[in-house]
Amino acid sequence: MILGWKPQSRSRVTWSTFEGLALLQVGPRLDFQLDKLPSLMSRMVPNLNVSVTSPVTDIGEAIDTRRGQYHSTRIMAILENQNSLAKFEKILGVTPMDLYNPSPRADGGGFVFGEARLRGRSGIVSTFRLSGDLPSSLLFDNRVKKEVFHELGHMVGLDHCSSLGCVMYKSESVGDTDAKSDHYCDSCQSILRELRH
Ligand SMILES: [Zn+2]
Ligand SMILES: [Zn+2]
Repeated sequence: MILGWKPQSRSRVTWSTFEGLALLQVGPRLDFQLDKLPSLMSRMVPNLNVSVTSPVTDIGEAIDTRRGQYHSTRIMAILENQNSLAKFEKILGVTPMDLYNPSPRADGGGFVFGEARLRGRSGIVSTFRLSGDLPSSLLFDNRVKKEVFHELGHMVGLDHCSSLGCVMYKSESVGDTDAKSDHYCDSCQSILRELRH
């Protein structure tokens, strides 16, 4: 469910050079239907045009074989170097593989749920830590949606938010992810409205 806002005036948010966001599977097959997301993402971010594109499966150069995890920033570089994605202004990947980021700020627990730079071109979300031992596919789907909306928020200019219910609150655990909502809080929405691309 989306409890998002409806912009009072669409003209207040203009993505003048925005050609679209590519949403895609990265690495092996996902247990999540990406097709569910474009319409929801377009409601979160007005005038956002989202296309689900072909997967990028070869991410071998991003693996750390000792850790058995993939370096999130290296995956972002792989995505940004894909010729097939050159026409897209932004690229958001979703992977079933486990991610890490050696930056002390990012990788306190030895893994990351995802990474995206503020207003950056690319982002990556991992579903690896979102299934846990719970059988509910609805719970899993909601977690994936929240992490995708979170990284999308960074890509369009939102930083972390101190509001516990806001999807831009930084999750340290799946418990944090479950506790927050799947939408941007009023404060984040007003920041989004003021942003110009
Ligand atoms: Zn974040
Ligand atoms: Zn917020």
